[in-house]
Amino acid sequence: MKESLMKIPCKNNHYFQNWSQTYSCKPELYFEPRCTDDLRVILLEAKQLKKKVKVVGGGLSPSDIACTNHFMISMKLFNKILEIDKTNCVITVESGVTIYQLNNHVLPSNGLALSNMGSVSGQCVGGIIGTGTHGTGGNFGSFASCVLEVTFMISDGSIIKCSKEKNGELFQAVCCHLGLLGIILVVKIQCEPAFKLHLKQASGLLEDNLVDLKSLISQSQHFRFFWFPHTDYVVNFMADRTKRPLKEGGSWFWSQLVGHYVLEFFLWVSTFFPCLVPFINRLFFKMCYSGSSESVRRSDRVFTFDCLFKQYVTEWAIPQQNTVTVLRKMREWIIANSHVKVHFPVEVRFVKQDGIMLAPSGDEDVTYIGIISFRPYGKIVPHDEWWNFFENLATEYGGKPHWAKAHKVKADDFRRMYPKFDRFMEIRRQLDPTCMFWNDYWRRVMGKDGFHMVAPEKQRL
Ligand SMILES: Cc1cc2nc3c(=O)[nH]c(=O)nc-3n(C[C@H](O)[C@H](O)[C@H](O)COP(=O)(O)OP(=O)(O)OC[C@H]3O[C@@H](n4cnc5c(N)ncnc54)[C@H](O)[C@@H]3O)c2cc1C
Repeated sequence: MKESLMKIPCKNNHYFQNWSQTYSCKPELYFEPRCTDDLRVILLEAKQLKKKVKVVGGGLSPSDIACTNHFMISMKLFNKILEIDKTNCVITVESGVTIYQLNNHVLPSNGLALSNMGSVSGQCVGGIIGTGTHGTGGNFGSFASCVLEVTFMISDGSIIKCSKEKNGELFQAVCCHLGLLGIILVVKIQCEPAFKLHLKQASGLLEDNLVDLKSLISQSQHFRFFWFPHTDYVVNFMADRTKRPLKEGGSWFWSQLVGHYVLEFFLWVSTFFPCLVPFINRLFFKMCYSGSSESVRRSDRVFTFDCLFKQYVTEWAIPQQNTVTVLRKMREWIIANSHVKVHFPVEVRFVKQDGIMLAPSGDEDVTYIGIISFRPYGKIVPHDEWWNFFENLATEYGGKPHWAKAHKVKADDFRRMYPKFDRFMEIRRQLDPTCMFWNDYWRRVMGKDGFHMVAPEKQRL
């Protein structure tokens, strides 16, 4: 190994596996740099040695978007809180800081909170803005819509700072950077004063939701629902900011023991007897989700929840006006294809247009429809027929896949989905002319030479 690299904390036998245990890799060298000088050395040596580089955040992406067999960089030592501006509710943090760290160790003690987030908190700040991560809420864009400024290092080791006001176009690109533009170092985030959420959970019928969808989205700040396939049941989650006193809801017995451990066992049994799946959907709806309940909790404890066990997941953002048609067609297909069994939940969430260049919610208000295929006790369960149908349907109705999750979409389709796809790739080419941040995920999407193509209308940065 080169002497300059040996000074940086590094391993040559690291095994990386994502949270879902669906992808893994063995990077030739795995670094835990301590400072920007370390990062610069890695990039310059990688260039000389013609190695690819991937930065890994929390490793939560359910695809191989963070994998590499060349040089992997973990940002776990870039975990400092640089500034907390309580007056304006703005924090400036290094990119290796996790959402969990913010929710539990930084924001509450400063009277602050994140305005919205996804269902888990293990992501790093650099990773969460890498894939268009979103929560739910008709008036809330993806997570990165709260980002005010990003500082990052590009492939030649130089550092760029951008915000809406400074390098505006680059900022819109880096807010869903896809791991392609450089190494995110520092992110400034707009927070809000700490708040509690009043969560109302109520069961209902899918058709009622579809008829009333617009008002359901607008009546609550953070509305989402689960649909239980093979039934017409849904459970609605409506969360709104409140000054009410804290009130815990749910019980460990139903949510953890039954809703997690017993469910995993039942789903495992259903891998031998798939005909049990509709029964399981009904049973768990009745036991864990029917009726209504209320709770008042700290905001992050409502936004995040137990995502249960290892899983394959595909999630598509479809234009909001197509939600009803798509969900009706999904229901019809399941009825018409009775040999295919689909376990709950199908998760439906709503995100406002946020103008971020390659965020699925960049150009329009979208509905995210997420399909999970659980792997009880790690067992692989076939799901191709259902997923193929869903992905074709979502494509037909103007959908775009979540960047971090499973999809088979290629560059030509992305070009149709995103008017600025070629512009993003041109920006990428200017920042990283040797394709240093390329990996198998991107080789699949772009084709062998895809990254070397120049956008039709080449513009300077
Ligand atoms: C259980 C579970 C629940 C989830 N829930 C949601 C949800 O509710 N909503 C949603 O939208 N998504 C959700 N996700 C997906 C998750 O939010 C995204 O995959 C997110 O990007 C993961 O962040 P990470 O820090 O783990 O990044 P990683 O998965 O480690 O990396 C993601 C991408 O960012 C790049 N990257 C990471 N850090 C940096 C950096 N500092 N500089 C440059 N590039 C970097 C990586 O190279 C990679 O390309 C969920 C995933 C799981 C496993």
